[in-house]
Amino acid sequence: MAEPIPESLQKKIEARLRYHEDLGIRLFYRERSAAARNPEESAAAALSMPPSPIPVIEESSLPKSAPQPKLGPEKTSAALRDILPPPTGPSLFEAVDKVKDDTLLKIREDIGDCTRCKLHKGRHKIVFGDGNPKAELVFIGEGPGADEDMQGLPFVGRAGKLLTQMIEAMGLQRKDVYICNVVKCRPPENRAPEPDEVTTCSPYLLRQIDVIQPKVIVCLGAVAAKTLLETTRGISQFRGEWLQWRGRKLMATYHPAYLLRNPNAKGEVWKDLQKVMAELGLQVPKKNKS
Ligand code: URA
Repeated sequence: MAEPIPESLQKKIEARLRYHEDLGIRLFYRERSAAARNPEESAAAALSMPPSPIPVIEESSLPKSAPQPKLGPEKTSAALRDILPPPTGPSLFEAVDKVKDDTLLKIREDIGDCTRCKLHKGRHKIVFGDGNPKAELVFIGEGPGADEDMQGLPFVGRAGKLLTQMIEAMGLQRKDVYICNVVKCRPPENRAPEPDEVTTCSPYLLRQIDVIQPKVIVCLGAVAAKTLLETTRGISQFRGEWLQWRGRKLMATYHPAYLLRNPNAKGEVWKDLQKVMAELGLQVPKKNKS
């Protein structure tokens, strides 16, 4: 017989379902995919990120479509179950809707001039997301900072410039990928979003992912990774591993803001991004023999 759901969790689920009904969303589904990773993935890509500072190239003459992916066979690994323990109860995300005929525009309209959480009080602009709505690759950050809040665009500040350089080092342009955040409004003093803010805002992120249907999701930093994977484990325990998330390949890597403070970690991130490139059929630079 199935385990009874704890009352506190039941209340949370009921509140979430009510919230979705308020939004007019009534289709719910469960999709608990087995976590998986590729244990044979080589960690030995010895190239490091291009030296910093790298000139930021203006976005111009962008290709119209993202490169065609070349997905390798999925491999499951028992070891991953140690990294991400099985959920103890029903996942809130599993109860999150698939909205019929959903579009990014609909999602933006549903967000409206949002006052659902306290972050609205200090924001200038809602930062919805930016890039190719049919991107094969989605980057997910934590939440807007000061520059993003003023411009209404994700990753346009210092960390954003580094992310742009990382994307360009992959042979892509920002407009080839989609970039968004877990929360759409700037947390005060750039603090991490609080659990209630993440709970309130993340359904829109999930809808964005469902609409875009990327082949690969890259979580930039712990907040994005922990939110999607619903884990409290530290990111260093699963960073750089291929994970499965709702039928998509997910990789967590360090946040560009962390790299600004810890430039030595750039090499690790570049290794992660090379795995992503290989997965998407992008040409990975040959190992430097010197
Ligand atoms: N950091 C984030 O996580 N997101 C942004 O959009 C900018 C900085």
